[in-house]
Amino acid sequence: MLQNKTVLITGASRGIGRSIAIQMAKAGANVAFSFRSSEEKANALVDELMQMNVKAKAYKSDASDFDAAATLVKEVLDDFSTIDILVNNAGITRDKLILRMKSEDWDDVIHTNLKSVFNLTKQVMRPMMKQKGGSIINISSVVGISGQAGQANYAASKAGIIGFSKSIAQEMGSRNIRCNVIAPGFIQTDMTAELNTDDFIKDIPLKRLGTAEEVGDVAVFLASDKSRYVTGQTISVCGGLSK
Ligand code: NAP
Repeated sequence: MLQNKTVLITGASRGIGRSIAIQMAKAGANVAFSFRSSEEKANALVDELMQMNVKAKAYKSDASDFDAAATLVKEVLDDFSTIDILVNNAGITRDKLILRMKSEDWDDVIHTNLKSVFNLTKQVMRPMMKQKGGSIINISSVVGISGQAGQANYAASKAGIIGFSKSIAQEMGSRNIRCNVIAPGFIQTDMTAELNTDDFIKDIPLKRLGTAEEVGDVAVFLASDKSRYVTGQTISVCGGLSK
């Protein structure tokens, strides 16, 4: 489905980004991805992807930094020639009730989760216009749709991603650049490892957490021509949690 395409994924050394990289490579895509600090894990993923007969390279780059995003996109274009698919996946949590939330907790989450989406999207616009098309996939969360006590910063960043993506879809549709959102529910990764998930599972119609691979499968669909008439949409991958 993605033969001869190049995908750039932010934050793919672990978790959902890692699975998106693997699912995209299984579909034939060459994979460029960034990470913040997990160098060993990033190198291990490059080895795994190369064994799948695709081109793969990891870049240490902070997605929240505008200049670093510009450098990253330039390096990826030098190495891979094109960027057909961008997946804005990098994200963090700094959960606290508003009474305890510090200014840094707000800024860290908004910069990493939301500003990063602007940073990378901005840099791929001109190359995608030149190529006469592209698919941008932004990873939000069901929390961006419904809100969540203790996650006002995270929910605001994830809701912001949805508004941003609908706007880009409207601005860039005439250039054949699509922009969609995946809103995962509770997915088994480091981010959810410390939660007592029994409390949540009773509210999930499919009665289990999701896997990162299940998010990766939807990302492949949104990256591919199978979704060529889909833009500006948010697909929840949440076992039915989001009503
Ligand atoms: P994770 O296991 O904590 O992995 C986060 C990834 O993002 C890591 O590869 C990390 O790199 C990278 N990263 C963090 N900050 C970065 C930065 N400033 N620049 C570049 N890379 C950065 O998280 P996850 O659960 O896979 O979550 C991935 C995305 O899905 C996030 O946007 C998250 O909000 C969203 N999401 C997750 C769930 C869930 O249940 N897990 C649900 C809804 C939405 P290092 O390894 O180098 O730190």
